Amino acid sequence: MHSGFRAAACILGGLFVATMVAGDSISERAKKLHFSAIVVDTHDDTTQRMLDEKFDLALRHSDGSIDIPRMKAGGLNAVFFSIWMSGKITGPEAVNRAETQIRAVREQVRRNAKDLVLATTASEVRAAKRDGKIAVLMGVEGGHMINSNLDVLRSFAQAGVRYMTLTHSLNVEWADSSTDKTAHNGLSDFGKEVVREMNRLGVIVDISHVSDKTFYDALEVSKVPLLASHSSCRAICDAPRNMTDQMMKDLAAKGGVVQINYHVGFLSQEFRDAEKKDPKINEDIALQVRQRCGVDGNEACQLLEGDKITRELVAQGKLPRVDYAKIIEHIDHAVTVAGIDHVGLGSDFDGANMPYGMEDVSMLPKISESLLRQGYSEGDVRKILGENTLRVMSQVERESRELRSRK
Ligand SMILES: [Zn+2]
Repeated sequence: MHSGFRAAACILGGLFVATMVAGDSISERAKKLHFSAIVVDTHDDTTQRMLDEKFDLALRHSDGSIDIPRMKAGGLNAVFFSIWMSGKITGPEAVNRAETQIRAVREQVRRNAKDLVLATTASEVRAAKRDGKIAVLMGVEGGHMINSNLDVLRSFAQAGVRYMTLTHSLNVEWADSSTDKTAHNGLSDFGKEVVREMNRLGVIVDISHVSDKTFYDALEVSKVPLLASHSSCRAICDAPRNMTDQMMKDLAAKGGVVQINYHVGFLSQEFRDAEKKDPKINEDIALQVRQRCGVDGNEACQLLEGDKITRELVAQGKLPRVDYAKIIEHIDHAVTVAGIDHVGLGSDFDGANMPYGMEDVSMLPKISESLLRQGYSEGDVRKILGENTLRVMSQVERESRELRSRK
């Protein structure tokens, strides 16, 4: 989930020219590589659509970015569906809503058992690939959903949740967000306890959205590598929830992985600058979303319509067009800074505004094609597509077993 249409001061990125791939020009080599690799996406907001009981992942939809036919077409093998709600929702209501979303994801897997399987470990993801199924995983996007109660965290882990983003756009009672005022100077003592318990439970600590100080506190406390489930490079686009080069280096030094987010407002400085220059644009989008979805419109409607309206504004020339080559630029920058073992994919599909040429998951092979054209080896492309993420999962699982056996 991106953090709304927020503007920020920007610094232009370096010189980079990525090759654009026309839709039908994926080479045989790229196809072979892509469809034999394990492709993992660590952040998709499709869960909001699943709250509508009539929504069926098995059908090919003309809107949104994710469904089973398009996941198959794009060679996606594992997807983390996000359990998300605004940080304004707190207390027992947040816990209840999170449980409802977890049930909705599990229900989609149950209904589509021919194609989907719930996975909680790296080896289950590999087994799903062997069985020709898509592995479905879950991540909780925001620590507010545990209501400051470790038992709730334990129950989420029990239900299959395998990462938790410490905060969303607002601070939680024990951690600061990158898009809120400093309140805890990073992680509070209880926040550190949350991280330690996540290590014990085998729930990956996700540092997307958190403040820089929260990131460094989590990096210090966690015994295992961290994941940024959907974050891009601040050196290219100065969004506060993107990672600085130094943060990516420090994340990598402890084995972690940054999963590049495809949201145009996190990819493109030009896009952020255009939003900032004309604050009316965002007010306009919000107004139109209210008109289309109602004042209390559901999140799925707001997300899909927000994306459509943004595209209309691009078509009218009011916002710049961002192409998917920008995703490759961020991947390439992150690899240069953090190393080839520390970069992956965290699209934010169905929760953000996608660049042209990456409107939905079926277009993922273009990433493999582009990386090969950039000169990446096949082994390196496999790492970015999923192997790096699977390595972090395995490390987190091993440490969890170790910590539990000590008690
Ligand atoms: Zn998000």
